[in-house]
Amino acid sequence: MEKESFVANFNLLFPDAVCELNYKTPYQLLVAVILSAQCTDKRVNIVTNDLFMNFDTPEKMLTLSQQELEKKIHSCGFFRNKAKSILSASEDILNKFGGEVPYNFDDLLSLRGVGRKTANVVISEAFKGDAFAVDTHVLRVSNRLGLTSQTNPDKAEIDLKNFFDKKDWSRLHYQMVLFGRYKCKAIKPDCLGCPFYSVCKVNKK
Ligand code: SF4
Repeated sequence: MEKESFVANFNLLFPDAVCELNYKTPYQLLVAVILSAQCTDKRVNIVTNDLFMNFDTPEKMLTLSQQELEKKIHSCGFFRNKAKSILSASEDILNKFGGEVPYNFDDLLSLRGVGRKTANVVISEAFKGDAFAVDTHVLRVSNRLGLTSQTNPDKAEIDLKNFFDKKDWSRLHYQMVLFGRYKCKAIKPDCLGCPFYSVCKVNKK
C-alpha cells in the first residue's frame, strides 16, 4: 500500500484525532504524558484534574515531597518512578530552562525522566511541531501494517519518519494511537471492515 493510501485511510477512520490528555500548558502536558505510561488517558485526566488545581507549575510541583506526590498519582501505577521523573524534570526545567518547558527536542530529552516518546508528544502537541511519537499502540500497529519490522520504538520512529511526509507525522501519531486503542487492539483486534486487511501481517500468519 502506498503512503498516500495509508494517510487517506487513517484520515477516513479518524478525521478528528486529537490528544485525549487534558492540559493547559506545555508543563501540564509534560506531566500528563509522564503519568500516561502504562495507564489510560482517562485515569490520567482524573488524577491531573486534582493535581493541577494546586500544582500546575514546576515551582509549585517542587513544594511536594516525593512521598506526597506519590500519594497524589498513586492510581496511575508505577507511581514511584513517575513521581521521581516529574520532580526531576521540574527541577531541571526550573534550574536550566528558566521555568519553561524547552521547545527543542534535545533539551527535552535532557530532562530526567523524559524519553523520545514523551519529547515527541510535547513537540507535536504543545508546540505544534512535526514529530512522530511511538508508543505501544503505534509500535504494534506499524508492525502489523508492515510499516516497520522494528520492535524498538526508537528504530520504528526512524522507519515511520522515512516513510511518511513530515506534514503528516503528528496527525498520524494520534490516528495510529486511536486505531490501536479502539480497533487494532493488542488482543482480539476488530478486523471486520479494516481498510488495512490486505496488507496486515496478522492475517497472513
Ligand atoms: S486487519 Fe486487524 S490486526 Fe490487521 S491492521 Fe486491521 S484491525 Fe489490525
